[in-house]
Amino acid sequence: MPERKDDAMTTNTEDQRKWGLQTRLVRGATDRSEFDETSEAIYLTSGYVYDSAEEAEQAFKQTIDRFVYSRFGNPTVRMFEKRLILIEGAEECRAMATGMAAVYAALAAHLSAGDRLVASRAIFGSCQYICADLLPRFGIKTEFVDGSDMNQWKAALATPAQAVFLESPSNPGLEMIDIKAVCELAHKAGALVVVDNVFATPLLQKPLQMGADVVVYSATKHIDGQGRCLGGAVLGSKQFITEKVTPFMRHTGPSLSPFNAWVLLKGLETLDLRVQRHCENALTIAKALEKQKGITRLLYPWLASHPQHTLAKAQMSAGGSVISFEVQGGKERAFRILNALKIIDISNNLGDAKSLICHPATTTHQRLTPEQRAHVGITEGFIRLSVGLEDVNDLIADLSQAFAA
Ligand SMILES: *Cc1c(COP(=O)(O)O)cnc(C)c1O
Repeated sequence: MPERKDDAMTTNTEDQRKWGLQTRLVRGATDRSEFDETSEAIYLTSGYVYDSAEEAEQAFKQTIDRFVYSRFGNPTVRMFEKRLILIEGAEECRAMATGMAAVYAALAAHLSAGDRLVASRAIFGSCQYICADLLPRFGIKTEFVDGSDMNQWKAALATPAQAVFLESPSNPGLEMIDIKAVCELAHKAGALVVVDNVFATPLLQKPLQMGADVVVYSATKHIDGQGRCLGGAVLGSKQFITEKVTPFMRHTGPSLSPFNAWVLLKGLETLDLRVQRHCENALTIAKALEKQKGITRLLYPWLASHPQHTLAKAQMSAGGSVISFEVQGGKERAFRILNALKIIDISNNLGDAKSLICHPATTTHQRLTPEQRAHVGITEGFIRLSVGLEDVNDLIADLSQAFAA
């Protein structure tokens, strides 16, 4: 066996940082075993064995670099982390069991009792629970702001804060936040900026280049993108990940399964192709919906009618896979449309090869009070459509027959 270096893996990825995006997605950090397999190996093992008691002692003292236990690290999981590092342009990464584990780890590993967290109001329902309910139980004070209103960010960050959490584009309202401007204010206030970049994917928006400190992903969404498994990741500086996130992960255990890491590595190989097609299909459908009667509000970042279209164009390279719209006739009409669809499935997931549609007010965001929902634009007639990879004409036909029903 070769001598194991750098997290006990043999591949040096320094040169791979210069590879083009698609090469990094397909081959980045591949670490072949002595059997020279083409596809990445799945190391489905919980533990590792030592040649001697002395080696085990050194491993626990961390005077040698090797895998010890899969809660701490695993070769397949490490390949996934190192490939994500190459794609995001981050220094370090920890993979997590789910996107929510990643969000919680990024915030809980950093914040302490007495700290202040400033968060955008329009965030994923479970992120809202962490910021509004869970962290305050441990003495962390959370203040919510309307993400698109820079004056509210200015006011909230005029007082020192330890963390800022934001999601852009937001779920499901597709609100855009000026990441660069918020980072500048946050850093002056002493805060670490954590960006939930799920809707943009690692390909369409680069928060670290805009000044963010930490990026979190639900790999369940576009990275798998085929509805198979859950996963998540936290990316940031070597110092933040190794000093804060790694001990948190080692001792609380939100570790990614090696099998899921393997599925996600396969997902990364086709991510660029899929995201491009997702965006093309979504833009075509958004344009078709512009002509559809009975829609009172239509949101897609790449439509000129989006209230923050200019900002979207400045900080993203395409509009993403999600379209949100409000239909006349409230919940009853929204449900009738969902129930009449023949191809598009009713599901709360997103970023999948299959087009999926949901009614946020009664599903993903039912936990919010009606006032909180109204504040972020989730009305009774509001629908979120995650556009998949099917023939776009079939999807348009399916939507128009559902509207006619
Ligand atoms: C889905 C999602 C999450 C949570 O990810 P899971 O993998 O389901 O835990 C977090 N943030 C956003 C924006 C999401 O869409």
